[in-house]
Amino acid sequence: MSSTRHNWTKEEILDIYNKPLMELLYEAATTHRRHHDPNTVQVSTLLSIKTGGCPEDCGYCPQAARYHTDIEGNDLMSVSQVKAQALRAKASGSSRVCMGAAWRNVKDGPEFDQVLEMVRTINKLDMEVCCTLGMVTENQAKRLAEAGLYAYNHNLDSSEEYYKEVISTRGYQDRLETIDNVRKTNVTVCSGGIIGMGEKVADRAGMLVALSTLNPQPESVPINALVAVEGTPLEDQKPVSIWEMIRMVATTRIVMPETQVRLSAGRTEMSREGQAMCFFAGANSIFAGDKLLTTPNPDVSEDMELFKLLGLNPQKPFIKKMQPQTVEAEDSQYQDLGEKPKWTRPEHKIERNEEAKLKAKELTK
Ligand code: SF4
Repeated sequence: MSSTRHNWTKEEILDIYNKPLMELLYEAATTHRRHHDPNTVQVSTLLSIKTGGCPEDCGYCPQAARYHTDIEGNDLMSVSQVKAQALRAKASGSSRVCMGAAWRNVKDGPEFDQVLEMVRTINKLDMEVCCTLGMVTENQAKRLAEAGLYAYNHNLDSSEEYYKEVISTRGYQDRLETIDNVRKTNVTVCSGGIIGMGEKVADRAGMLVALSTLNPQPESVPINALVAVEGTPLEDQKPVSIWEMIRMVATTRIVMPETQVRLSAGRTEMSREGQAMCFFAGANSIFAGDKLLTTPNPDVSEDMELFKLLGLNPQKPFIKKMQPQTVEAEDSQYQDLGEKPKWTRPEHKIERNEEAKLKAKELTK
């Protein structure tokens, strides 16, 4: 039976976020390894299939037509361009392609048909395919599902209260409605937010309440650090410290134990040590490629070097959640080494699968 809770309160989440760091990390890492393989991180590639010219006013976004930023706008990419990029992403270790279009909402017509064809094409490459196209109706979500879409991204961005400070052209309820429309299909939900937009810690907790009380919780939660872009209303925001990012990742992991927590925008500002602590705290996905839609991102080869250094493996596609490593599997590693864990953990009943057994063996060689 799942131990996932759907009734977290803001106070409880704030108590977790504000724990002494070592306590927080220990709890998050323990939760993480109960539900996921701690040595596996998914590598995803985010493609901007239609850049710029968006009618919305998201205060952080250089793609909003009303802000004067120096991004180059592009019309919708062709299916063959997307296929070529997806193949390149697959060759460099990505198991998921996320296609983003700077639209307020999806409109039925030739452009949507083209996106559906992109979804079919990537699906045939045996990769998870995700889209972030703005608001969708139930019928559009169904069409995406029929084309083979694996995930739909629609971020809540912040708490309901702070959301209004950043975006005025659509409301929090609109966002929740799109998530609800996606939930009526078999497409998984990806929804997270951004820290460093001037919000209070209580707003971060408020966003985690909104996400964690969804039932089911989103299968994927991206945690972004704001990349302040000149020309946007948030251009003067100071970067968030790595400690805030670590706390946010750890808290997300604890309240949404089965979710894939995605360490998203802002990684170029993070040291390797900082990123390693985020992985320890429960982040198990990164976006690869030198750009995240329009903002900078570390180079794939740098990421692969970091994986090697930390002994991490890129996750295969279509593994929704854990390759479970049970208490027994972990303990056996220590017993084989002639040591016993010096801590006690509550019992839990997760089936240990063959892959976890092999991994435990490899670790003790
Ligand atoms: S975040 Fe999306 S909806 Fe908002 S302005 Fe940018 S492209 Fe448009």
